[in-house]
Amino acid sequence: MKLEKLYELFLQFPVVCTDTRKITTNCIFFALKGDNFNGNTFAKKAIENGAAYAIIDEKEYQTNDQTILVNDVLETLQKLANHHRKQSSAKIISLTGSNGKTTTKELINSVLSTSYKTIATVGNLNNHIGVPLTLLSIKKDTEIAIVEMGANHQKEIEFLSKIAEPDYGYITNFGKAHLEGFGGVEGVIKGKSELYDFLIGHNKHIFFNADDAIQLSKLNSYINKYGFSQTNEKYYKIILLSANPFVTIQVEDIEITTKLVGTYNFINCCAAIIMGKYFNVTLANVKKGIESYIPSNNRSQIIEKNGHRIILDAYNANPSSMKVALENFANLEAEQKIVFLGDMFELGSSAKKEHQEIADLASSMKFNNTILVGKNFSATNTKEKTFEIFDDLSSYLKNTSLSKSAILIKGSRGMALERILDLL
Ligand code: ATP
Ligand code: MG
Repeated sequence: MKLEKLYELFLQFPVVCTDTRKITTNCIFFALKGDNFNGNTFAKKAIENGAAYAIIDEKEYQTNDQTILVNDVLETLQKLANHHRKQSSAKIISLTGSNGKTTTKELINSVLSTSYKTIATVGNLNNHIGVPLTLLSIKKDTEIAIVEMGANHQKEIEFLSKIAEPDYGYITNFGKAHLEGFGGVEGVIKGKSELYDFLIGHNKHIFFNADDAIQLSKLNSYINKYGFSQTNEKYYKIILLSANPFVTIQVEDIEITTKLVGTYNFINCCAAIIMGKYFNVTLANVKKGIESYIPSNNRSQIIEKNGHRIILDAYNANPSSMKVALENFANLEAEQKIVFLGDMFELGSSAKKEHQEIADLASSMKFNNTILVGKNFSATNTKEKTFEIFDDLSSYLKNTSLSKSAILIKGSRGMALERILDLL
């Protein structure tokens, strides 16, 4: 079927679904293929459950005129998304970076939605499927769409940029994340910069952190840019007043008290503030947008339990985010401090060195207790307590009474360190 024809159907039935367990009446089901499943096999079920159409790419699954055969379902989804984006007058803001994308996206949305009709990436749907789905959720009256783009290898952001064709862009930072797929830190910088390359190539707008030396140098000669800085008078001034424990910010004559811990979240707020400024959101609404955002999903959440104040940051971890989380925790005012660190994944051949560095850094901070969990941390040369498997940590905690403390919990998603909460 021709794209234009399919687009007409989409305009009639503008909800896209890729999971038969979440079929809604009159959606269009795209039969994607994964490593362990073939969406085509679910097409019939999707229609039985109420889908208006099912887009398939294997002839034998064609049942009636509600199944539409295309060459490649994924490619069709991506092309349809790009086509829809082109028809829309919504401004598209794309963001990528090593850490803080989802938090920043939520903050931007929280600020801009005070004054505009916005849509944003749902949760963390930031890949070659999530970006098209986000674009397809743009409605007729949408004024601004905020699109998170994730990547773990080269050319991915370039590809996603071609689908989303952003008018504005922001890179949170260049850090040590997904080192394995990108080929080291230089690879990360190159890969994430594909967003800058797209925006510069099309003379679009870039927001940036002027206190980040890499961003500053990358954009040095580019005109269409809007920077924020704590100290450089050339840029929009946003100041971190405190992060003890919550990030408090001064911008113009307004003070913003966030519900976010960690100085790194200051930068995430800055992106939302400068975009609010650019899009003429009043400072009162900028403040309202940021102050109303509460992190969820194990991302830098503060939890009070049995007299402990716990910073639960068990959503993910890599060397850069570990380092800032530790530095932040070290600066926190508390009598008694305990850290639980879990292994960092996807580091390839750097794993040994990076775990050693984090173990050393944590040691040097002399917390009352530093507890390292996982194969990689257990293999480091450290005087701190290590547990190779979670069950051993679990037994240890069941037999130990910890005095009331500030506690930091951080590790890669696969370590699921939120399980520690039940043991405290
Ligand atoms: P993903 O790659 O899974 O999409 P993300 O880039 O969307 O991650 P978030 O989900 O916003 O990142 O945050 C995940 C964790 O990264 C946070 O809990 C925090 O520990 C850390 N983090 C958030 N912002 C920053 C930042 N600006 N610099 C360094 N670390 C950060
Ligand atoms: Mg994310």
